Amino acid sequence: MTALTRRHFIAGGLAAGALGLAGLTGCAPAAEKSGEDVSASAGADGAATPAAGERPWEIAPAPIAEGQITETVESDVVIIGLGASGTYAATSAIDQDPYNGDLGLGFVPEIDLLGALLGHIQDKGADIRFKHTSQQLVRNGGGRVSAVIAADETGALKKFVGTKGIVIATGSYSQDAAMLEYFCPMVTHNPVGDKVAQFNMGDGSGIKQALWVGGTMQNNGDHPPMMFWGSTNCIKNVMVNSTGRRFIDENAGQSNFAAAQFNQPGGTMVALWNEAYASQLPAISYRADDPSWAAKPEELLAKWNALVEEGIFMKADLLDDIAAAYDLPADVLARTVETYNGYCAAGEDGEFHKNPATLHELTAPYFATKYDVPASLACMGGLHVNALSQVLTETEEPIVGLYAIGLAAGDFYANQYSTRFAGNSLGRCMTFGYLIGRQLAGLE
Ligand SMILES: Cc1cc2nc3c(=O)[nH]c(=O)nc-3n(C[C@H](O)[C@H](O)[C@H](O)COP(=O)(O)OP(=O)(O)OC[C@H]3O[C@@H](n4cnc5c(N)ncnc54)[C@H](O)[C@@H]3O)c2cc1C
Repeated sequence: MTALTRRHFIAGGLAAGALGLAGLTGCAPAAEKSGEDVSASAGADGAATPAAGERPWEIAPAPIAEGQITETVESDVVIIGLGASGTYAATSAIDQDPYNGDLGLGFVPEIDLLGALLGHIQDKGADIRFKHTSQQLVRNGGGRVSAVIAADETGALKKFVGTKGIVIATGSYSQDAAMLEYFCPMVTHNPVGDKVAQFNMGDGSGIKQALWVGGTMQNNGDHPPMMFWGSTNCIKNVMVNSTGRRFIDENAGQSNFAAAQFNQPGGTMVALWNEAYASQLPAISYRADDPSWAAKPEELLAKWNALVEEGIFMKADLLDDIAAAYDLPADVLARTVETYNGYCAAGEDGEFHKNPATLHELTAPYFATKYDVPASLACMGGLHVNALSQVLTETEEPIVGLYAIGLAAGDFYANQYSTRFAGNSLGRCMTFGYLIGRQLAGLE
């Protein structure tokens, strides 16, 4: 592939075409709006009814007829989905080397970064189509994926041809109940069942469209969910289950903790700590350029005391009061804390081998709280891809012209998602977005 100058991307104003999207809800399915009979065996959304034993998300709808297309747009690169990964892919494709140069954006708070990048690439000539939802990929026989057909807000169907590649960056499938249950069963099959809240990180539409043209899914077992608790549930010096015993190294990442929680009697976990812990917690700054953005001990204490007032935390001089409040056996809890304090004095956790630097004696007055049910932020598995982000078939052949990045792509996580690496998922989205942009621009 020859290197392209920026001119190739902005020629004709089509540039690195990116199908952006402000929201999926409220958009009527294209086939329904068109009023045309897509297929005799198709349902209202054009999808065939699955037979017994068939996995519904794998059933391809009847192909959209050429006559239904109202507009055809030709670009070098088409990126479906402009979230965390797609925006970086578009930036790197059109800017070519954004991370070694100054984009001229100045300091942009994390929360505004994607918006700033979108504005930047639009200025560079990217053709961004908001509220366009991809419906089907166009694959020529067993050959190249050459285009994607998307529906705009009115349901009008448009074909976006990507001469260099089509990139699926449409996020996760967690809003598709059947896919969730099949690929990420920890979220649905656990002691708290449907109490696990789901964030909307995608309906799997881009993934399904790739499967319909021959793509396959990551196939190394269940996909790990990204599990978290609310911010009030992140403090823990000592953690016990309903028997009053410790059961884990309290420094384990949140997703690991969630898996452990599901395995405790009744899913119960009670955290204990004290005032001194406000100074013992490692300070985490939220701004690389300004360490003072870390919460200060007095701020933490004020927050904890406010949560006591709200009844979310409790504060007590006696462990017996905590045991009574959370229905724990008082004698076992007292022994657990005594043993833990012994580990602190010895500098060695004889049971769970917690990092000695984080063994802090637990003395009265105590704070305590019961951990809620965790939420699942996303499912960390997707399409089977190779190191070049090409979507692979069942026989491990790359589908020419088709790429997947971000949560739509699999083969990055197995068994567990580690929250111990800050920005683990976003970092991957940025990195593979950057790489695919460069690759399609002929720079890699
Ligand atoms: C509350 C919360 C907190 C998080 N915190 C962290 C964190 O601290 N660190 C971390 O690393 N990760 C975190 N994550 C995860 C992180 O947000 C995701 O890993 C990341 O956003 C995934 O990027 P993506 O590009 O794959 O998908 P997304 O960012 O979800 O982008 C996908 C885009 O595609 C669009 N789209 C979907 N389907 C179509 C279609 N058919 N046609 C056109 N467009 C479509 C969507 O509307 C969306 O804009 C968090 C997630 C949540 C929910």
